[in-house]
Amino acid sequence: MKNIAILGSTGSIGTQALDVIKQHPDQFEARVLTAGNNSDLLIKQAREFSPDIVVIANEAKYDQVKDALADLPIKVYAGADAISQVVTNDEVDMVLTAMVGFAGLRPTIAAIEAGKTLALANKETLVVAGGIIRGLCLRHKVAILPVDSEHAAIFQCLNGEGNNHIHKILLTASGGPFRRYSSEDLRHVTAEQALKHPNWKMGAKITIDSATMMNKGFEMIEAHWLYGVAPKDIQVVVHPESIVHSAVEFDDGAVIAQMGTADMRLPIQYAFSFPKRLPLQSERLDLFKLGSLHFEKPDMERFPCLRLAYEAIEQGGNMPCIMNAAGEISNLAFRQARIGFTDIADVTERIMREADFIKNPTLDDLFATDAQVRKLTDKAIQEIR
Ligand code: NDP
Repeated sequence: MKNIAILGSTGSIGTQALDVIKQHPDQFEARVLTAGNNSDLLIKQAREFSPDIVVIANEAKYDQVKDALADLPIKVYAGADAISQVVTNDEVDMVLTAMVGFAGLRPTIAAIEAGKTLALANKETLVVAGGIIRGLCLRHKVAILPVDSEHAAIFQCLNGEGNNHIHKILLTASGGPFRRYSSEDLRHVTAEQALKHPNWKMGAKITIDSATMMNKGFEMIEAHWLYGVAPKDIQVVVHPESIVHSAVEFDDGAVIAQMGTADMRLPIQYAFSFPKRLPLQSERLDLFKLGSLHFEKPDMERFPCLRLAYEAIEQGGNMPCIMNAAGEISNLAFRQARIGFTDIADVTERIMREADFIKNPTLDDLFATDAQVRKLTDKAIQEIR
């Protein structure tokens, strides 16, 4: 039995993780559940899965959750600090980091320091602090099992390859809902349009990041830190069907890919069960029905966020952290119709030029950078309006 803490249990990844646990009650148990604001769903999940502990980040919702679970032996806590504390619980074997954004960084570090195996969905953690996280994982002998479908695919392509050198990673991207849009068309798209991803049903932030291809930039950085491959050797390949979840090319020219339907429960379950494969009730891949697959080069002019990510990781230091914070704030502003779609990249690029660059940041520097950039970005957004 594996005891799992799910950070962000009320989100897209969190709810699918609970579905995986429901399919394998003899293998996995949800011992800790945490949410941001959605107290109603957290209460419902707690009544169904009987964890030891639940945390609601929004402290104003504490009384509601506490009262609703008063008849059950479940400890209830509130606030951001509580999330970092509960991951260290002795009963927990594995922590699934399915919170969204920079907020995932602190609890991820707490989990590593407590020696918990990580099932990592919160890619922002590796984007902002990949080098520090890698160092911490080595020091505390903590394994990261990737949940992001592309990184889970790469992980599977590398199974059994030992020290064989990776020549290139082929990181696939759906291209999002606006793959065929001109730069001019992109200026007029709405959040409602951008929130309709053609293949994946995901949380709001990552869906917008997919439409701008910022998400693929984040994933390139994530792959760099997970697999030690230089950014220039990570080729983004637009693949609109989202069937090949990524591939690895080796020195002899062999390309190994992992394929499957677009169902996040597969990578979530594999992270939970690795190295075992368990049955999963999910749609199966039917190549005959599919007929053909397509691959294209990404267009970094129409989708400059991808270019910004390559620039950020090349510059290193706190630059990916600057990009992440500026991207997070402008993503939200777009969803709130305060800026246009193409402003997301414009604002992010401007802030990457304006914010204070630090070549060798400490963790404290990264928290300070995040706070500074959020303010700078808010100001830049107000100037646009
Ligand atoms: P969602 O927005 O659907 O869910 C986010 C979860 O985090 C919710 O449970 C939310 O709580 C919680 N949360 C948000 N802010 C805070 C906060 N400040 N403190 C504590 N909890 C918070 O996101 P996704 O599930 O789509 O994504 C989660 C992570 O996984 C992201 O990093 C994303 O990039 C990554 N990922 C997602 C994929 C997907 O298919 N969805 C695929 C690959 C990676 P509440 O809703 O209660 O407010």
